[in-house]
Amino acid sequence: MPEASDEKITLIPDVLIIGGGNAALCAALAARETGASVLLLEASPRAWRGGNTQHTRNLRCMHDAPQDVLIGSYPEEAYWQDLLGVTEGHTDERLARLVIRASSTFRPWMHKHGVRFQPPLSGALQVAKTNAFFLGGGKALINAYYRSAEAMGIQIRYDMPVDALELKDGHFVAALCGGQRIAARACVLAAGGFESNRQWLREVYGQDAHGEWPADNFLIRGTRFNQGVLLKFMINAGADTVGNASQSHCVAIDARAPRYDGGIASRIDCISLGVVLNRKAERFGDEGEDFWPKRYALWGRLVAQQPGQLGYAVIDAKPLGKFIPSMFPGTQAASLAGLAHALDLPEASFLHTLNAYNAACRPGTFDHTTLDDCHTEGLLPPKTHWALPIDTPPFFGYTLRPGITFTYLGLKVDPTAAVHFGGQPSDNLFAAGEMMAGNILGLGYAAGIGLSIGTAFGRIAGTQAARQRPGGDHAH
Ligand SMILES: Cc1cc2nc3c(=O)[nH]c(=O)nc-3n(C[C@H](O)[C@H](O)[C@H](O)COP(=O)(O)OP(=O)(O)OC[C@H]3O[C@@H](n4cnc5c(N)ncnc54)[C@H](O)[C@@H]3O)c2cc1C
Repeated sequence: MPEASDEKITLIPDVLIIGGGNAALCAALAARETGASVLLLEASPRAWRGGNTQHTRNLRCMHDAPQDVLIGSYPEEAYWQDLLGVTEGHTDERLARLVIRASSTFRPWMHKHGVRFQPPLSGALQVAKTNAFFLGGGKALINAYYRSAEAMGIQIRYDMPVDALELKDGHFVAALCGGQRIAARACVLAAGGFESNRQWLREVYGQDAHGEWPADNFLIRGTRFNQGVLLKFMINAGADTVGNASQSHCVAIDARAPRYDGGIASRIDCISLGVVLNRKAERFGDEGEDFWPKRYALWGRLVAQQPGQLGYAVIDAKPLGKFIPSMFPGTQAASLAGLAHALDLPEASFLHTLNAYNAACRPGTFDHTTLDDCHTEGLLPPKTHWALPIDTPPFFGYTLRPGITFTYLGLKVDPTAAVHFGGQPSDNLFAAGEMMAGNILGLGYAAGIGLSIGTAFGRIAGTQAARQRPGGDHAH
């Protein structure tokens, strides 16, 4: 069985890949395509393979004319402007443009490795201009890549969390995993961020004024295996980094989601159509400030600052049908007092907040598809759009918690995906995916960019690593 991990690894592969998500598999496949022998080490058991990539749905692709599942056009400049907008300039233009151009070549290559795309769904045509959706989602993407990797003779080992590397002056020598020492001619690090490492998150988010450790209550939307062990190892080994540990993509999600791997099904999409309260039944943000995804990524942080790291989104019957329904039904009540009781919130404060909000709503023309003119007056914090009184039963409440998607801290790389030490590129150690995404996505997010970065740099890293093998054009 290729996945038997208790078997000692004796042969020295040309290329060692550490990680088992999109970036790792793209690197492994690209390296193998050049003829290199490849060994891939995935920390998780086989059933949980694929990291955060399992939870994905689409990738962002540049194209100048309609192509297979993509409609219209999405030229390089439009993609670049979108990236510049979401990152507020925290991006390396040279690396970003490299990803953007490469994204026009992804789909035929992915198709060759068994990935299938689905035609745009009606109602999602805006996204169909920029993003290609996988048939079967990220899980199918991952399964296709693993199947292709096995068929091509890539060695895969599960349950292999690498603890450390043996490096010599920035040169990769071996990986250390449990009691094993695994040497290779070159190595690609594709082991994701550190979002699942509670201790590291605790260090970053600290203790709040209430004596709580907010990070203890964060839900991790993806895999539990992204512990950042190698990221920390590399930082301690003197590798150059990008971004800072305090940045993460953090959204407000359904508090009923599991602690790990809740994925996109835990989304709560009605925040802008109602109000959000904390445990004291007080509002703490402008729910109508902007559209998703801008507001989406804002609310995780806002909820994280509240006592108990809890928020409560409250709507009445009017917005029903105007947002993506939640996986589990909300808490329902026939009156506002009944909803306060059902959510276990202080009734007097709840009614005071709702009455003050309702009284502050000014008449306007409600339109949830534009930044409409329905706003509050004389209320703090204000609600600047989509402010309609919450007065039509039944009423619904959704308890929210912060949900971390990924962290931004990563390793600095150059266009060859080489890891740098003191400004000098390593000759045989490369990084791809979330481990270096911060070079391009230093802040913010736009749907489908994570996988574009991982696919582009995974293929580059794999190809570069393969050049170190005997007969490769960088062989010593
Ligand atoms: C819910 C959710 C939805 C998302 N949707 C999208 C989307 O639709 N489109 C998009 O572009 N992006 C999306 N993203 C972001 C996307 O998941 C990431 O950008 C992308 O998957 C990163 O790929 P990766 O290979 O770098 O990391 P991952 O896919 O997370 O893989 C990391 C791998 O490294 C392994 N690993 C970790 N530590 C070690 C170790 N020490 N030794 C060995 N192996 C190790 C893990 O087990 C895992 O297999 C989403 C993220 C989440 C959480």
